[in-house]
Amino acid sequence: MDVINKLIRDGQLAREEYIELLEYAKDKAAVERLKEEAVRLKEQYYGRQVYLRGLIEFTNYCRNNCYYCGIRGENTKVQRYRLTKEEILSCCEEGYGLGFRTFVLQGGEDPYYTDERMEEIVRAVKAAYPDCALTLSIGEKSYESYRRLRLAGADRYLLRHETANEEHYRRLHPQSMSLVARKRCLYDLKSLGYQVGAGFMVGSPGQTLETLAEDLEFLKELNPEMVGIGPFIPHHDTVFADEPAGSVELTLFLLSVIRILLPKVLLPATTALGTLDENGREKGLLAGANVVMPNLSPKGRRKQYELYDNKICTGEEAAEGIAVLSRRIEEIGWTAVSARGDYCG
Ligand code: SAH
Repeated sequence: MDVINKLIRDGQLAREEYIELLEYAKDKAAVERLKEEAVRLKEQYYGRQVYLRGLIEFTNYCRNNCYYCGIRGENTKVQRYRLTKEEILSCCEEGYGLGFRTFVLQGGEDPYYTDERMEEIVRAVKAAYPDCALTLSIGEKSYESYRRLRLAGADRYLLRHETANEEHYRRLHPQSMSLVARKRCLYDLKSLGYQVGAGFMVGSPGQTLETLAEDLEFLKELNPEMVGIGPFIPHHDTVFADEPAGSVELTLFLLSVIRILLPKVLLPATTALGTLDENGREKGLLAGANVVMPNLSPKGRRKQYELYDNKICTGEEAAEGIAVLSRRIEEIGWTAVSARGDYCG
């Protein structure tokens, strides 16, 4: 348990030690110890509050072809859709009424949404809801595009690094994409003053303890304000259709580790975690997460934003189910609050 004590004491480890740490993922006592410390840290910085984000999946068109993703450009079976500015605003209106004070606009890398169009959307949302934070999650862009969107009023940006290992990155993505470019985006976003979210899938094809150790090392170095992790779940129309899903237990273990590495991080219990385990989101919160992101997309569109098979989108993970979700959060002793929920640093 030396390595666990060291992580708790120092808030970081050396590469080889991360590998040793990850070998404890199935050790009950180790899992408990990390969980306890993770929850202690979370409560130290954020109390017993859980932040809500309204997720608006506004386009499923994508120019990329990530091998794991159901909406990759080459999947001809997807029925594509785009939301207009008015439709996006009406999602926000519904969300505002439900108590959301952060909206996340997520989509594929859709060239239809030029800088001008995105600026217009960002300005419209911020003008209508000046007390809300706006998060974008629309992939890789130039420094100049990120700068324009930041000036238009975007507060935060989610861009998972997916894996911090070059070779593994190539296994998950086509030639046209690179880890170098991905990292460049993350550092650009940071330098522009966005609250930045990185992250990765747990159990993606080709992931090993070594690549996970590199992910943890990279997260410590980048020091992002948010980290999104969730289990990989295969999608039937992708290259990885027959690959096994990632592990819920390992995801929970990693949530605790990440909370200890980055004590103030905004850490969601993700939809993918809730998809593989019906209590996945509560378990995520109990492992150190402090954010949930219910789906605020128009109901008729949710099925079409299918990143992986069986993605939950109609029950209490959906915005309409917020009352049930809030009750379940109360049951574990915390409160889902109506607040922007900025990084406390
Ligand atoms: N296009 C944007 C955001 C959309 S995808 C971007 O590139 O950032 C959001 C996240 O969903 C991805 O970063 C990926 O980690 C996750 N995801 C995609 N396919 C998945 C799958 N099959 N299982 C689990 N998570 C997946």
